[in-house]
This record gives sequence, C-alpha cells and structure tokens, in this order.
Amino acid sequence: MPDIVRLLPDVVANQIAAGEVVQRPASLVKELLENALDAEATEISLVVKDAGKQLVQVIDNGKGMSATDARMSLERHATSKIQSADDLFNLRTMGFRGEALASIVAVAQVELRTRLHEEEVGTCIIAESSEVKKQEPVACPPGTSVTVKNLFYNVPARRNFLKSNAREMMHINEEFYRVALARPDIGFSFYQNDMQVHHCPPGKLSQRIVHLFGAQYKEQMAACKEETMHLNLKGYIGKPESAKKSRGEQYLFVNNRFIRSNYLNHAVTTAYEGLLPEGYFPFYVLFLSIDPKEIDVNVHPTKTEIKFTDEKLVYGMVRASVKQSLGLHQITPALDFHSDINFHIPKHSPQGSGGMRQTLQDRDYGQMRGVRPQQEGWSRLYEETRDKDTSQDREMPPDVVTIPSAANHRQDLMEMPEVTDQQWPVQLHKKYILMQVRSGMMLLDQQAAHERILFEQFQRALEKRKGPTQQSLFPETIQLNPGDFSMVMEMKEELEALGFDMEVMGKTDLVINGVPADIAANYDRTVFEGLLEQFKHNQNTLTIGKRENLARSLAKKTTLKAGSTLEKKEMTALVDRLFACNNPNYTPGGKPVFSILDFNKIESILK
Ligand code: ADP
Ligand code: MG
Repeated sequence: MPDIVRLLPDVVANQIAAGEVVQRPASLVKELLENALDAEATEISLVVKDAGKQLVQVIDNGKGMSATDARMSLERHATSKIQSADDLFNLRTMGFRGEALASIVAVAQVELRTRLHEEEVGTCIIAESSEVKKQEPVACPPGTSVTVKNLFYNVPARRNFLKSNAREMMHINEEFYRVALARPDIGFSFYQNDMQVHHCPPGKLSQRIVHLFGAQYKEQMAACKEETMHLNLKGYIGKPESAKKSRGEQYLFVNNRFIRSNYLNHAVTTAYEGLLPEGYFPFYVLFLSIDPKEIDVNVHPTKTEIKFTDEKLVYGMVRASVKQSLGLHQITPALDFHSDINFHIPKHSPQGSGGMRQTLQDRDYGQMRGVRPQQEGWSRLYEETRDKDTSQDREMPPDVVTIPSAANHRQDLMEMPEVTDQQWPVQLHKKYILMQVRSGMMLLDQQAAHERILFEQFQRALEKRKGPTQQSLFPETIQLNPGDFSMVMEMKEELEALGFDMEVMGKTDLVINGVPADIAANYDRTVFEGLLEQFKHNQNTLTIGKRENLARSLAKKTTLKAGSTLEKKEMTALVDRLFACNNPNYTPGGKPVFSILDFNKIESILK
C-alpha cells in the first residue's frame, strides 16, 4: 500500500495558517494599522474599497524598512519585535508573532512600498500566493504603504464566505475605531471608495471621540478618572440619555489594548442601574492601566479577552468610578448651553429694558415662580408645595431664587423657560409641553416631569419622616396575601412617613384611613396594590434601598395619567416645580424629562 501521509505544499499550508490571522477584510485593517503604530507613525491613512474586498491600503510615515527587512517581513515568523513569551502584556508593540504579513501574502495580492527616512530610495515588493513576484527600488516618501488587493482571490470558498459590504464595513469601522480611540495622539484619515469619511487630527481623547462619533457627544460625555496604586482608570462615559439600543459603542482598553470583557462590561453597566431604560446600553471609552503582573498571561493576548488576578478588585473600582462620574455629571443638562449662561429677561419685565441680562438669582425667575397657580383641578398636587412656600421653614426668601442643592453649582448651565407671552406653554397631544426658551424651544414630557417631581417630594417626606396626610372620607380595606402583608409591615414606618395612615385589621387585612396629601386627588384603590407590585419588581431588578424604591414606586404609580389635559397654569406650575428639583433631567428610572431643540437643531431638521 502506498504511503498516504504527505506534507502539504507550502502554499496550502500557508493558506491554512493564514486562516487564523486573516478572517475578513477587517483583519487586514487591524494588522496593518497595528504595524503602522508599531513603526511609530504619527500620521496614518486607511483606504478601503468595496468594503475591503477589492482593496485595503494603509499608508504610514513611520520608520520604514530596508530592502532586506522588507523582503524578510513577508516571511512567516519574521518579526523585529521579539519578546519572551511570558511577558506579552509588557509588550509595547501591538504585533509580536511575525505572522500577519506572511498570512496576508498567502491569501491576497500585496504591494509593499517602504523607505527608511535616512535612505534616498525605497523598496517596492509585489507578492501573491506566498510568492514574491517582483522587487525593485522605487521613489517613495519615507514610511510604509501596504496595499492588499483581492483578498481570498485564490481561496474562492473563503471569498464566497464574506458577508455583505455593509456587514464587512461594520467590522472594518470597528477595527478603525479601536485603533483610533486607543491612540488619539496620532493623526488618522480614513477613505472609503475615494471619499474621506474620517479625518482625525492628533489631539485629546475627548476630541477623538467627537471626531469619530459626532459633535453631539460633546454634550453627552462625562469624564471618568480614578487612580490607585496598581490600577488607573480614565476615559469617558456616556450620560444616560445618550444610551442606545445596541451594544455598539463600548470600548474598554487594558494597557492600551482593546479588550472584550463581559465581567467589566457588567461593572460599567450596573453603575448605570436605574438610570437606563431596559434594553439600552451606555456609551463608554475607558482605559484601564494595570501592572502586567496582575493580568493572567495564560490568556492568549491576541484574543480580545483577558483575566485579572484580582477580578473583584478591578470590578469594584470600575463600577465605583463610573458611578461617581455619573453622580457628578448627572445634574448637568445635556444641552447646548455653553454660549449662553444668563437668562433672557421677559419682554414685559419691568427690569427688562436695554436688553440687559440678569442671572438666575435675579427677580426674573422669581416673577415666574410668582405665577404659581391657584389651587384647582388636579393642581391640588401643588397644595403641599404652596403650603411649604408660605411656611417658616422655606428654604429661600420669596424674591431670591436659587435652584436648590446640587443644581446650584451648575446653574450656569440651566436654562429656564421664558414667560414672555400668553401663548406659552402649549400642550401637545395631551402628552408634551412645549415652551419657548432663549436658545430655541423646550419639549417636555409631562408625565416624566411629574414623576420626577413626585419622586423628590416623596424622598423629602421619607427623610423628614412627616409627609402630609389627607384623611379619607371612606377608608378602604385591602386584603393582602401573607407575603405582601409582612412586606408592608416591614416598611410600615416608611409608608407612614410618606403620609399613609394605616391600621391592621384581622390577620392580614389593612385599612387605609388616609393617603399622602400630594396624591390624594389621584388616589384610587389601584394605587396601593400597584405600589406593592412596583416595589417588588424593583426589588428584583435593581439594587436600590427600601426608601428609594418606595419613593420611586409611588411616584411611578401616581404620576399624571397619560393623556391628561393640562391648563396653562398647571403646565407652568409643572415646569416650575420640575426646575426646582435636584435633578430635573431624568425620571428616577433614567428617562429624559425634557430636551431643548436649539436653533441649530431646528435649522438642521428643516434643511
Ligand atoms: P509582527 O507585527 O507580529 O512583527 P508582521 O507580519 O505584522 O509581524 O510584520 C513583520 C515585520 O515587518 C514587523 O516585525 C516589522 O519589522 C515589519 N513591518 C511590518 N509593517 C511595517 C510598517 N508599516 N513599518 C515598518 N515596519 C513594518
Ligand atoms: Mg504586525
């Protein structure tokens, strides 16, 4: 019987080996960009045609190669970056296996042009199917240009396996983003089918993010920074309202390498707990620097996965610092305020002459607050507020108006609606409130606004342990199952602080004699049961304390019903109360309450 074991021809062996490195056009982008970085380039251009299926080219101004090195660089395991295998994460270069170019040449047509800075002429090599076809001196700028054409031209099965252009382009963009984000100090240009799609000059990380993702990120990012002995974290996170329904824009770099870590991703996302609607993912670009000793080097470093010696420590730190950053920035409205720190004076204001501007503390807003409605209809809601306004423990004198608490520090960023004429505010579809503001118009979700107001009101009641009660004319009896009953008993004190007046009857029945005054007008027997349901739901899905949960659940269950018609003074009062909140921007669940359409936005919509 003849021997059947044979060595594979080199070409085939190389093609198979290439499979690990080159899976799709995006792999070319990754490898070539990383080589350019390793060559210490400061300007890098990426050119892609037909989603990389026809052409991927990377041009750099890095150190270039001699003729011999250029020839060698296409051989398998040829690398100038030899390092010992056990400290791979100590590597300062991206590549280290000397496999990329050889793999690429096995499955595509490659033209390499390279020149050392100190040389007059460069080298041009043309190669395909692992074979050098031509090598000659050439006039070219210092640095290196690698052009890869017709990927998998010689492996039809794999070429057919490529996905649609849109899909391949997505992978390419992703690789480009990772490199461009990791190195904001380097200039990048990206051309697609002869059109420049990105031009990123060298700069700061924040500028890089804006260049890549768009100007709106200026308003949507919050800085994140934490330094400890063995561990540093820095970067940017997206404010909750910039969260998207896809996981896309999440970047974590460990020692400047892009890493995919479900564990740390979890640390980031749980820091947003309660600020994001379900199914939304926050934006982040975070850089973790850690002593390489703290990383498990058994994990293959070319894979975008990693293990930490002390995972919990890293997790805790990431979560805490994202949380802190959210806390610091949450109160900043994500609005385009930087150019306009003062408030417009209403036309009819007595001080309004000469176009003079006043600040928030001025009478202007005080007057606006003066238009608080008389009690009527559902605006009983404001009963407690008005009472408080006239009471002794009022936080501010009638004419000096400050936005309370944390928002104070950022008052320069706040913009209040103008009460310029009788037309405003306007209710849209019994759902939204439209108001004129200095930079354009403000669109406000009435239900969300009300939920925020109630939530903070309930929180105050829980803190002070004395929410006002309105006694019911007809006390209602609620029959509870034993589980719910004991839960209610556990938070009896808090419920009373909110303003519930309850009495136990029999084994598990509850008589409700009075309810929180703020919600008395909207109270019906579904509220209490709804409150318990919501409380339980939150308990299972969030990690918030009992009090916050109660305040949230009650606010959610007693907020304005959808489709409530509001009168002008009710709307004004609602807006007024909203901006007296500590955090008017979001509902307790993280939904944005209002948005400002400034003139730029309006113009761009109408273009
Ligand atoms: P690795 O990056 O793992 O070393 P590659 O196959 O990607 O392996 O590259 C092989 C060698 O070719 C590199 O070690 C480097 O010396 C050289 N090289 C590749 N690309 C460039 C470039 N753009 N500029 C200068 N040298 C390069
Ligand atoms: Mg490489």
